[in-house]
Amino acid sequence: EWSAAVAAIHSAVTADDTILLVCHVNPDGDALGSMLGVAQALVALGSTRLQATFPGPLTIPEPFAPMPGLHLLVAEDQAMARPDLLITFDAASESRLGKLRDRLETSGDSIVLDHHASFTGFGRHQLVAPTSAATAVIAAELVDRLGVALDRSIAECLYVGVITDTGSFRYELTTPAVHRLAARLVETGINPGEVSQRIFDSRTFGAVKLYGEVLSRAVLETEKRLVWTVATLDDLKRHDQPAHVLEGLIDGIRCTVEADVACLLKQVAPDEWSVSMRGRGGADVSRVAIALGGGGHRLAAGFTGRGSADEVMDQIRAAL
Ligand code: 5GP
Ligand code: MN
Ligand code: MN
Repeated sequence: EWSAAVAAIHSAVTADDTILLVCHVNPDGDALGSMLGVAQALVALGSTRLQATFPGPLTIPEPFAPMPGLHLLVAEDQAMARPDLLITFDAASESRLGKLRDRLETSGDSIVLDHHASFTGFGRHQLVAPTSAATAVIAAELVDRLGVALDRSIAECLYVGVITDTGSFRYELTTPAVHRLAARLVETGINPGEVSQRIFDSRTFGAVKLYGEVLSRAVLETEKRLVWTVATLDDLKRHDQPAHVLEGLIDGIRCTVEADVACLLKQVAPDEWSVSMRGRGGADVSRVAIALGGGGHRLAAGFTGRGSADEVMDQIRAAL
C-alpha cells in the first residue's frame, strides 16, 4: 500500500489539489501529533491548499497549545466539503471521525493511517499496522517515503505522538525501531524534557485536587481483579476544570497490582460516559471495549457507555 499512497500524495501535491487531514474526536497526542507532523511535511512538499481538522469544537487542550503546525487547523464546520484527497489519523473506525466521516464518501481519494487492533477497514489506501506503537510511527515512515527532511517542527509533533502512545517508552510496543526513531527526532533539536513536562507533568492545583478525590473513591473488586472509579461532570464543575484534564487519570489506578483491569468512567452527559480501560499482564481490554461498541489496543481501550455509572459497570463486568 505504501507506493500507492505515496504516489497519490505526490500527484495531489503536484496538481495542487485540495487535501483534508482529519484525526479522531477528542484528539490525544498521537492523533494531533501525527496529523500536524504530516500536515507540515505536505506543506514542505509544496501543498498550498491543505487543511487539518478534527470533529467537535476546535479547542486545543493546554498541553498541546504550543505544538507546531496548529496554524494549519480549521474548525470542523470550516473544513472543505469535497477534498480531492482525504488523510485520516489514529481513527480505528469511521465513527471516530464524527461528522467528518462523510468526507470518506465525498473525497476523491483517501489514505488512512492507523495502528489499532480494532481497525474496522475503511478508506482506499490503508497504512495500518497494529504492531506500530503509535500512528506517529507510521506518519514518520510516510514523511521519509515522501522524501521530506525531518525538521524540528515536524519532529516535535511526531515525538508528542510517540511519547503519548508508548507512555514515554514504557509500553510493550516500544521496539528498538521506536527508540531509533525517537533518536532521529531528538537529533533535530527538540527539547524532550520540555515536551514531556508539558504533556505529562503539568496540572493545575485544581486538577491535582480533583485527581485526589476521584482516586480516593476507587473501588477494588478482588474476585474480578478489577479496579474502577468515576469522574462526574459535577467533579469537574466543583474544581472548575475542563474535561481534558482527566486524560492522565486512568494512570493513577492502572498501577494497582491486585487488578488485571482498570476502568475510569468519565461522565460526558447525565447518562453518557467516556470509558477508559487499561489491562495488565494477560488481559485484553480491547475485546471488552469492542463488545461494548468501542475499540482500542490489547492493554488500552475505550468505549462510550450509556445509562448510570452502575449500569455501565454492570455491562463491563458482564463483558469481562
Ligand atoms: P483513552 O482511554 O486514552 O481515551 O483511549 C485508549 C485507547 O482506546 C485509544 O487507543 C483509543 O483510540 C481507544 N478508545 C477510547 N475510547 C474509544 C471509543 O469510544 N471508541 C473506540 N473505537 N476507541 C476508543
Ligand atoms: Mn488516539
Ligand atoms: Mn494512537
